[in-house]
Parts: sequence; C-alpha cells; structure tokens
Amino acid sequence: SLGQNVIVIVQGANLLLNFEDLKRASDVICNAKVVVCQLEITPAVSLEALKMARASGVKTLFNPAPALADLDPQFYTYSDIFCCNETEAEILTGIPVGNLEDAEKVGRMLLERGCKLVIVTLGAEGCMMISGDEPIPKHVPAGKVRAVDTTGAGDSFVGALAFYLAYYPKLSMEEMIRKSNCVASVSVQAPGTQSSYPYRKDLPQDLF
Ligand code: ADP
Repeated sequence: SLGQNVIVIVQGANLLLNFEDLKRASDVICNAKVVVCQLEITPAVSLEALKMARASGVKTLFNPAPALADLDPQFYTYSDIFCCNETEAEILTGIPVGNLEDAEKVGRMLLERGCKLVIVTLGAEGCMMISGDEPIPKHVPAGKVRAVDTTGAGDSFVGALAFYLAYYPKLSMEEMIRKSNCVASVSVQAPGTQSSYPYRKDLPQDLF
C-alpha cells in the first residue's frame, strides 16, 4: 500500500565468511578506494575488514544493518561514514526517529561515539548528514516519487554512495548524498530489490 517492507533474514552461507577469507582478500581491500561493510556477515569479520581498510588509508563506509543493540563501539571509530536508517538509529541510540530533529540528535550522538560523518536515511524524506568538520546538520531531501516497494532502498543508497566516493571523489558530500537519494528513489519505484534496471533509461544523466 505505502510500499513499506517486512524483512526475513536467513543468514546461511554469509556466516561462513571468516578471517581467513579476509586475509585472502587483503590485496583487494587494502587497494580499494572505499570499503563498505554491514552486519550480514559475522560482525567481528566486518570490523576486521574496516580495520584493514583504515590501516591502508582506504575510506570506510559502514551500514549497521541488520541493527544490533550491542554493536561493538569500535564500529564507530573505524567508520569514516556511518550510514543508518531510522530503525537502526533507534536501536543504536534509544532515540526513536520520527523527524529531522530526532535524526540530528542521533547524528550528534554517533559523532560523539567516534564516527567522522553520520548519515541517517529518512525514507521519502531523504536523509540527514552531519560531520565533525561540518557540525551543522544538513537535510538532503529526496525527490517526490510514487513508492511501490522500498525493500533494498537503503542498500541502493549505500551502494550509490560508495560508487560516488570511488569514482567522483571530488564531489561534495552533500552532492554525493543528493545523487544517492536519487538512485535510491529510483529503486523504490518498482517491486523487488533489483528492479531499477528497466528504469535505467529514465535515470537522470546528471547521476553520472
Ligand atoms: P531502508 O531501506 O534501510 O529502510 P530508507 O527507507 O531510509 O532505508 O531509504 C533509504 C533511501 O532510499 C532514502 O534515503 C531515500 O533516498 C530513498 N527512499 C526510500 N523511500 C523513498 C520514498 N518513498 N521516496 C523517495 N525516496 C525514497
């Protein structure tokens, strides 16, 4: 009806990814432009990947999904960009996020925990960003679209942001976020999580 989602997670093979696998991938991790981690593999393995990236000066982008109430606090200090949605924000901080002001409170709290830059995604409202360098929170609105299925919107946003960080590093963070909102808002306009493809011809060319 409103395109909201219900998610069941079957972790299966993801939990088999281990430290040995990381070691084998260390060349790729340490020579990347950006490393994205979240919590669909064993958290300690994700954290180690962030540490390997950081040690090589690789930008780290972390998405605490699915949310964990007892997230290891090192995830904050090893994230250059910490990007969460409203649900994850509440589980991590205890602050229910219903509006921009709540998101700003979350942002300030997560900066205090050691993140360099925090993004809270706000569904149809786009997102809020705040950073240690620019401690005045910014609202980056998303375009108005007709959402039919928001499953995967967060992943779409994070993936797009990683793309801009890697390929268009000179864009301002606000511009990268604006473009990522735009990509994610395309993803909610069709059912499923991989359905933006048929819409690609409609993607505004200024996304690239
Ligand atoms: P999640 O999928 O993790 O719950 P959100 O619902 O916050 O994350 O959505 C992530 C991003 O997807 C938003 O920041 C926005 O860019 C885009 N998005 C989600 N829902 C809509 C919507 N109804 N209209 C436009 N953009 C949306």
